[in-house]
Amino acid sequence: MLSDPVTHVKGVGEKMGEDFAQIGIHTVEELLNYFPYRYDVFEIKPLSELIHDDKVTIEGRVIHDPSLTFYGKQKSRLTFTLEVEQVAVKAVIFNRAFAKKHIHSGDTVTLVGKWDAHRLQITVSTYKKGPASQQDEMQPVYPAKGELSPTKLKKAIQQALASYAAAIDEILPAPFLTAYKLPSRKEAYQTMHMPKSRIALKHARRRFIYEEFLVFQLKMQLLRKWKREATTGNVQQYDQLRVKAFMDSFPFTLTDAQQSALHQILADMASPYRMNRLLQGDVGSGKTAVAAICLYASVTAGKQSALMVPTEILAEQHYQSLTELFGDRASITLLTGSVKGKKRRERLEQISTHQLDIVVGTHALIQDDVQFADLGFVIVDEQHRFGVEQRRVLREKGLYPDVLFMTATPIPRTLAITAFGDMDVSVIDQMPVGRKEIETYWVKESMLDRVLQFVGKHIVSGEQAYVICPLIEESDKLDIQNAVDVYHDLRAYFPASIHIGLMHGRLSAEEKDTVMKQFANNEIHLLVSTTVVEVGVNVPNATIMMIYDAERFGLSQLHQLRGRVGRGEKQSYCILIADPKGETGKERMRIMAETTDGFALSEQDLQLRGPGDFFGKKQSGLPEFKVADMVHDYRALETARKDAQEIIDNDLLETKEYQALLQYVENNFQTDEKLD
Ligand code: ADP
Ligand code: MG
Repeated sequence: MLSDPVTHVKGVGEKMGEDFAQIGIHTVEELLNYFPYRYDVFEIKPLSELIHDDKVTIEGRVIHDPSLTFYGKQKSRLTFTLEVEQVAVKAVIFNRAFAKKHIHSGDTVTLVGKWDAHRLQITVSTYKKGPASQQDEMQPVYPAKGELSPTKLKKAIQQALASYAAAIDEILPAPFLTAYKLPSRKEAYQTMHMPKSRIALKHARRRFIYEEFLVFQLKMQLLRKWKREATTGNVQQYDQLRVKAFMDSFPFTLTDAQQSALHQILADMASPYRMNRLLQGDVGSGKTAVAAICLYASVTAGKQSALMVPTEILAEQHYQSLTELFGDRASITLLTGSVKGKKRRERLEQISTHQLDIVVGTHALIQDDVQFADLGFVIVDEQHRFGVEQRRVLREKGLYPDVLFMTATPIPRTLAITAFGDMDVSVIDQMPVGRKEIETYWVKESMLDRVLQFVGKHIVSGEQAYVICPLIEESDKLDIQNAVDVYHDLRAYFPASIHIGLMHGRLSAEEKDTVMKQFANNEIHLLVSTTVVEVGVNVPNATIMMIYDAERFGLSQLHQLRGRVGRGEKQSYCILIADPKGETGKERMRIMAETTDGFALSEQDLQLRGPGDFFGKKQSGLPEFKVADMVHDYRALETARKDAQEIIDNDLLETKEYQALLQYVENNFQTDEKLD
């Protein structure tokens, strides 16, 4: 059985078993899943094409018996001549005296080794009697790991394949293999470790890519189904008329995209299932408006609700805009780290006795002493900024509350279906009408003076500007230093009538708050800042976003920053100052200047920078695939997702043909996953 311990493989003893355990390989199956990271391709090429000092493969006939000489201490040299393409080539084999017994005049041999083009000589590393077979063309190379050398790994894997091939059962139902022309599981394993040809290897890889994606998608979709079915009991019977009246009080009508997202969310709330939904929408697409309506719906259903956001500034902004929207329709409070002492105790008391309907807050919301009387609805804004654990704690403050996650980071589709495959997703992919497009310019640093004049002119005419400082990878401290330097430079540059403020992560919450308030009141005209202003900040009078060293930022992040302007009636500008060295850097600046669609940018970012940039490093929630690459193989991912959905929707996993697949998927769950 493939689940046998790896020590059952011939040649793998106790010691080696321990070495394997060290690198996470315990079973035969895990050993077989240790795929080569590359293949050495030994192609037989004409002598005239062989390159001096390269590793080459040649095939020829031995002209006379090898001669063996010994030298030094137990060192030997075996030499012979062979005829290749009617040319005499000299072969040397060091320290393998026994080879003399194997190689004789008249034999055809295949030699792999280092080529000396001047002397027409090969220093042999591997030899084989007989002509080169297809198999010799591609040699798997395994990454050495821990105590295990590539050679040891290879030996063990080849041995495992030899003895366990018959135990490799198919898990994909036959129609899939036929439809996609995929090799069997057994054949695919054999090919991955001993490819007979490049074509065969391509198909074996295709098979594992599809298998990995399908199993993953089945798992996610099963989780989603279970989560829905396991958590009945939260029906929020909201008051449709009151909700409608609330919407009618808005100074605008919802866009179609907002409407449809709203309906999906409200349907979840009214259903007995617990909502587990992600609401995606570009900055300014009107998510907050939708969220407000949902919060109100929950209030009319007699429940309490909570809105958790990552920063104090955002919490206060949301609190303010919600208070304005709601008027006396609901009682709202704010709970952040700055709410302390008596004030905090009072609010907690009111929350626990349901005197308050809606609580807006930061991490302060998830502390132990925060007790809700009847929490029915939770919204987590910029959810990727919170850890899994923090989201869970908030959720558990209610009895099966409906949960809505919101993000303004447009997430590329492939990432969305991998990272959030166990959620329902609503997308607001449309901007409210009448928005002026932000004009974006990319300029070189040599143009800085002209840019600053442009900024000064707009400020004098009553507008405001952000200046974002260079980002220095991994160094908060240097970022701040940069901001401080720029702040002083600009103070020296502009007349004192232009008020310049400074904002960075080291300021206390109160200091940040003061600065933001001054900026919001136009007492500060130009705000120099690190990327802390990135998310959600809303000052409609600000019309210029100037970004230093823009090439250091990801496209998605630049787009987020750009979203800080263009929030009012006036024409807004985004100015990227950058002198990128390479072509991709230039390309990225061009893309930024041309594209205002956040989803398009995020797709580009994914292609250029890979998936790591979209979420925090650790809490990404992105699965690791052995063969598949979700960026490169996105088509297969789409196919697998559709197939998985069909399988789940039609309950096919219960049928006989799907038993092996079901079994495999179930073994794939970590024990705690089903419970979350
Ligand atoms: P998001 O939270 O997605 O960034 P907001 O909900 O804050 O977007 O909306 C941005 C601005 O657009 C706000 O000033 C809001 O009042 C306004 N807005 C929202 N929806 C509409 C709409 N359908 N029509 C016009 N303006 C809207
Ligand atoms: Mg519900």
